[in-house]
Amino acid sequence: MTTLPTQSELSALALDTARRCGVDVDALGGDVETRSPVNGQRVTSLGWRDAAYVDEAVGRAHEAFLAWRRVPAPARGALVKRFGELLAEHKDDLAVLVSIEAGKITSEARGEIQEMIDICDFAVGLSRQLYGRTMPSERPGHRLMETWHPLGVVGVVSAFNFPAAVWSWNTAVALVCGDPVVWKPSELTPLTSLACHAVLAQAIREHGAPEALSQVLLGGPEVGQALVDHPGVALLSATGSTRMGRLVGPRVAERFGRSLLELGGNNAAVVSGSADLDLAVRGIVFSAAGTAGQRCTTMRRVIAHTSVVDELTDRLASAYDRLPIGNPMADGTLVGPMINQRAYDAMEAAIAAATGDGGKVVAGGGRAFADVAPDAYYARPAIVRMDAQTDVVARETFAPLLYVLPYDDFAGAIELNNAVPQGLSSSVFTSDLAEAELFLSAEGSDCGIVNVNIGTSGAEIGGAFGGEKETGGGRESGSDAWRAYMRRATNTINFSGELPLAQGVDFTV
Ligand code: NAD
Repeated sequence: MTTLPTQSELSALALDTARRCGVDVDALGGDVETRSPVNGQRVTSLGWRDAAYVDEAVGRAHEAFLAWRRVPAPARGALVKRFGELLAEHKDDLAVLVSIEAGKITSEARGEIQEMIDICDFAVGLSRQLYGRTMPSERPGHRLMETWHPLGVVGVVSAFNFPAAVWSWNTAVALVCGDPVVWKPSELTPLTSLACHAVLAQAIREHGAPEALSQVLLGGPEVGQALVDHPGVALLSATGSTRMGRLVGPRVAERFGRSLLELGGNNAAVVSGSADLDLAVRGIVFSAAGTAGQRCTTMRRVIAHTSVVDELTDRLASAYDRLPIGNPMADGTLVGPMINQRAYDAMEAAIAAATGDGGKVVAGGGRAFADVAPDAYYARPAIVRMDAQTDVVARETFAPLLYVLPYDDFAGAIELNNAVPQGLSSSVFTSDLAEAELFLSAEGSDCGIVNVNIGTSGAEIGGAFGGEKETGGGRESGSDAWRAYMRRATNTINFSGELPLAQGVDFTV
């Protein structure tokens, strides 16, 4: 039996914590009520911006851009360095807010803040490595090169399940690239976003940089929509459902803006007959049941060879039976609440559809603590054994719901892995080098993230993060994802005193 904090305990904890991060909680004002998934109760009430305010915010951000783009990139990096230090100081506070508003267990909430600190480190290094190439010119006495310049105002729209880290992936990189950020966070996690912004605002003040480099606009989808449509937003980075991306992508394209879309996933692990099953079980349980199944990279499908599928299913079911579900801030809890009733209902509906398709529930399902917390939704992570990849399996249900499917030959397993509309993350558990290499190859997984002998979730910031198909095609965070936040100019410099034309063209007057 878990003990859940009362409404007044949790609300006081949230407000005190936000205050410590620099949020002026007495000035929150407004009548939009926020709730915690931990106990389903009210945390506070606050005011939202309306869509009309977006124009003012983008105008202020543009003014900041005009000044910030003149600051040398390594000096911009100094701001991000300080931001990272302040995040480290506030790590536990920010993690508490993530737990209260998104329902993450403490270890994962701290992990999310650590990811923010890590991306700051990465971005500081990047601030001295915004490299352009120099290419050999075909003309004598000429130099051909490219230069990367700041792009402009970056609009960030983010989802509830990574209420802090996604913003920081965008913001740390955008700032060193010379761009200000206007953030429309999830309406479900407002205090976390205000606290993150307050920490950055302190770093901005200390650095003496323009205040409007960071702005946060609390509001609903209409505020996001106004950012999407604003011609002053050079890059719109949107993280959330494919439904949202389908609305946002074409609208940004219509005004020839740039978009970076990080949308839904339906991630699978292929478990081969040669897999180390101990490793596979651990990897699968973390990826499928961790974060209560509410990561974009959560494992939603296991495609297991017929020689191991029964044993694997039994071992997973027994691990699921032992999963400690409860107060995400209590020691020992591994599975916290789902975000709200709608999310829980979607899980129940998916289980009903899967059993209607002939699936068999082999673990979990149903709700815990409904008696003590009728407004909180603690789902028991579920496993459904399926014979075929039916429509419901091909959809993303944002819940701790794992389908297990059998396969006969490895090519068929790859086909199943790829036969869904989403293309975010994938993994293979195998001891067979040829299978691993095939899965990683051009004929293998079609996802943006392809792993061997680890699960689908828990990416590091050093790699580019994102996926193909309905996941949206965007790449954020590490590697060369920074290029999305800058514009490239190609330069030809003639020091020959002559004017030879490229491709041998003769134009002598
Ligand atoms: P959501 O799509 O409901 O909301 C995400 C954000 O989009 C919110 O801030 C919301 O206000 C805003 N929004 C909604 N409609 C909009 C519109 N028409 N114009 C502009 N903004 C709009 O998603 P959610 O429920 O908060 O998050 C869960 C989803 O996010 C899952 O599908 C998950 O896979 C996905 N996700 C993807 C990634 C990734 O990196 N690929 C990361 C985290 C979450």
